[in-house]
Amino acid sequence: EQTAGKGRMGRGWYSPKGTGVTCSLILRPAIEPGQASPVTMLTAVAVASAVERVAGVSPGIKWPNDLLLDGKKICGILTEMNAEMERIHFLVVGVGINVNTDYFPEDIKDIATSLYLAGGRRVSRLDLLRRYLMEFEHYYQQWMDYGFGPVLEEWKKRCVTLNRPVRISTPRETWEGWAVDVDNTGALVLRTDDGELKNFVAGEVSLRTI
Ligand code: ATP
Repeated sequence: EQTAGKGRMGRGWYSPKGTGVTCSLILRPAIEPGQASPVTMLTAVAVASAVERVAGVSPGIKWPNDLLLDGKKICGILTEMNAEMERIHFLVVGVGINVNTDYFPEDIKDIATSLYLAGGRRVSRLDLLRRYLMEFEHYYQQWMDYGFGPVLEEWKKRCVTLNRPVRISTPRETWEGWAVDVDNTGALVLRTDDGELKNFVAGEVSLRTI
């Protein structure tokens, strides 16, 4: 249970007792702050792989950090960073997975689901956590050894955001266009109606498919 679970940009995360997996990992990669966004994406791949193996359902990934089943969110990921300009002190990557949740409050019931509600059977949270940690270690090591390329391939296979019209909101403005690619820094590439390509870095924006 979390009594004050949090999501991105000060949003809340509903984590009732005995139903989900909420887990944070502290990481100390020897990289610059600007190179950190792959960690959120590799976490999405690790959770998706673990869910596939343990629950037998295949979540889609919505750029940059949500996992969906039946178009609704089963997992959110929050990456926070403590850094100097040149050096990361540490990253904290938190996941909240709705596992056996059978009730969601009114304000999120249309956008949230659980492995139980979507898959029809209860799932062992311990098995899922164990598998997630194994998958995380595998993909993290792959990132450290070979760069982001192999993880990005896995991420793209599961992505449900690409090749679709989307709306992107930054704190100041809103853009609409076609989601054409995710580049090797993790940025979403949008083609606007007048043909211009614009890159959006995760962490600053909200995305909706149109
Ligand atoms: P989005 O892009 O979907 O607006 P986000 O990625 O910016 O969300 P997150 O940190 O992933 O934000 O999730 C926070 C949001 O998710 C909350 O504002 C709420 O709408 C929704 N939410 C809160 N708790 C849950 C939950 N247990 N399961 C699914 N969705 C939740």
